[in-house]
Amino acid sequence: MIIAVDGPAASGKGTIARALAAHYGLPHLDTGLLYRAVGVSVARAGGDPDSAEDAAAACAFPDSLLADPALRTEEAGPLASRVSRHPAVRAALLERQRAFARQPGGAVLDGRDIGTVIAPDADAKLYVTASVAVRAQRRHDELLRQGEDVLLDTIAADLTARDARDMGRVDAPLMQAEDADLLDTSNLSIGAAVQRAIALVDIRLKGRS
Ligand code: C5P
Repeated sequence: MIIAVDGPAASGKGTIARALAAHYGLPHLDTGLLYRAVGVSVARAGGDPDSAEDAAAACAFPDSLLADPALRTEEAGPLASRVSRHPAVRAALLERQRAFARQPGGAVLDGRDIGTVIAPDADAKLYVTASVAVRAQRRHDELLRQGEDVLLDTIAADLTARDARDMGRVDAPLMQAEDADLLDTSNLSIGAAVQRAIALVDIRLKGRS
């Protein structure tokens, strides 16, 4: 069973994907981390994230980098978004994600193009979203917990710019797959959003059996 969870940054998709993985006993892949690893590698090598060549050269990063806390910082998000526009980067990361999705028993993957490109035949697809204001507040709270104090307005501007870049790119733009269920978490607690996600997936699974 493959479950695809897509949506913009700070929509709650990561939390929901992890909860779905725990609920259905499936492994989970946060595919954003792969793009963050490429973005951070380019920056560390002194390269330009907007250069397709520099970004493609950074795709052979070591697995150990995925555990680096630097990938989860506020600076890593825009870097990831910039390198993810290059088709060569998306192609380099494609097979790794597909292999994860196709493992025996299935998996939960979250990202931007899971339901549209990586696993178009997924058994259940969720498109998780929330208003920019709510997402900015969530990211602000999360960063404060990590000891990073970034202005709320700066976070909102960054999210808006990232949405535009992710939705506007030519290759695998962020969008709701035709057969994905929409889950707007703007007015939902984490617990309520997870319960709703499980209910939506259960309906899809019943429809398949
Ligand atoms: O989900 P996260 O915020 O970690 O993703 C960072 C960036 O990586 C996104 O803004 C997006 O540009 C890119 N990404 C992508 N495709 C995915 C996952 C992430 O393009 N499947």
